[in-house]
Amino acid sequence: MAGIVTRFAPSPTGRLHVGNIRTALINWLFARKAGGRFILRLDDTDAERSTEAFAQAIREDLAWLALAWDGEERQSSRLARYEEARAALAAAGRLYPCYETPEELEVQRSLMRGRGQAPVYDRAALKLSPDERARLEQEGRRPHWRFRLGEESVVFEDLIRGPVRFEPGHVSDPVLIRADGVPTYTLASVVDDIDFGVSHVIRGEDHVANTAVQIELIAALGGGPIAFAHHPFLVAADGAGLSKRKGSAAIAELREEGIEAMALVSWLARIGTSDAIEPAYAMADLIAAFDLAKISRNPPHYEPGDVAALSRRWLHGAPWEAVAESLDVLGLGEGGEVFWRAVRGNLDRLEDTRGWWAVCTAPLAPHIEDAAFAAAAAALMPPEPWDGQTWKTWTASVGENTGRKGKALFLPLRLALTGREHGPDLAALLPFIGRERALARLGGDRA
Ligand code: GLU
Repeated sequence: MAGIVTRFAPSPTGRLHVGNIRTALINWLFARKAGGRFILRLDDTDAERSTEAFAQAIREDLAWLALAWDGEERQSSRLARYEEARAALAAAGRLYPCYETPEELEVQRSLMRGRGQAPVYDRAALKLSPDERARLEQEGRRPHWRFRLGEESVVFEDLIRGPVRFEPGHVSDPVLIRADGVPTYTLASVVDDIDFGVSHVIRGEDHVANTAVQIELIAALGGGPIAFAHHPFLVAADGAGLSKRKGSAAIAELREEGIEAMALVSWLARIGTSDAIEPAYAMADLIAAFDLAKISRNPPHYEPGDVAALSRRWLHGAPWEAVAESLDVLGLGEGGEVFWRAVRGNLDRLEDTRGWWAVCTAPLAPHIEDAAFAAAAAALMPPEPWDGQTWKTWTASVGENTGRKGKALFLPLRLALTGREHGPDLAALLPFIGRERALARLGGDRA
């Protein structure tokens, strides 16, 4: 499937949230599965609200989730191309100047709604004579330019929603050039999709209604064909949309909370699909399982608790290779993998590994409830070298000699050795504590 190109086209006017990233991920998975390209396009024609800081934050969020992009484009650097497209459309007679103010248009729309009609632009400006236009311009009005839609219905096969049909007369001729001369999203997006060879536009379903217009514009500019797919949005538990401006479910926040990137990607790749939500440890598995046809038409729910739970599940089953690089800072050395296997089942966040490492290796305040018992246990402690069996052998002999068993035997030992009542299997942890520290923690005099 050569020639497959998708794009993720955020406006750098806010932080990305889980809903935006799901769109990015679906585009990424689609491109990777097809061996195609995935482009990051920054829709930054709104100079007032777009900032480089937001653009950088978008790159950081994508990079954190390992969604590498094959090229970056910025609409603000393509104004000359939009001007060329405008001129071509004007030459083809598909653009016409309009002079209504936003207020006039709003009055028109509310009148139409009042009459039970769809608020479609009435094309009044098409009927203006050259004299009338000249008069309006003398009054100081500057035109905005609309694209004249055709008279045919537009039918397309949405790769998620199935067949979609738009009848002529139900959609307003879209504004392509604003009165200040700035091209609108509709023009810029279509010119870009054509120029960058985009084969599949995959985006949220708020854009379904724009698609008929875009298909006509693509044809008028001699581009395409381009396939379209519109997915439903993630919604909050109460059904409300996730707004990036509110910062709800911002990717950066999840990162700071210690959610694992790969767990979030696993969740986003499978939420709202017919696949069970399981932690994935390799992108290749998500790519292999990906299929647009699996995406449901019902809006999936975003529950922060579900993502946190999947992140814990991800940690509890994570192979050493999946975390070794992140844990490098702990300097676990040779025994890293054994230590990881010992503690992973007790983690809420990867960062907690550090805490368990400190429990094993850092000085610990004494936690001895019964000094005589602790001294007896210390006296029975086997000599090193220790291995995974040491704990069993040792506690068996402590049990025999003190007559304790079950909780009465194990809890005081765990408390003295780790300072905590719960935690990883001590058989696995004990070799990392080592004999010298274990003796000290049981009240011995050696540090
Ligand atoms: N910048 C547009 C948005 O975020 C892109 C829409 C599209 O994918 O065409 O809504």
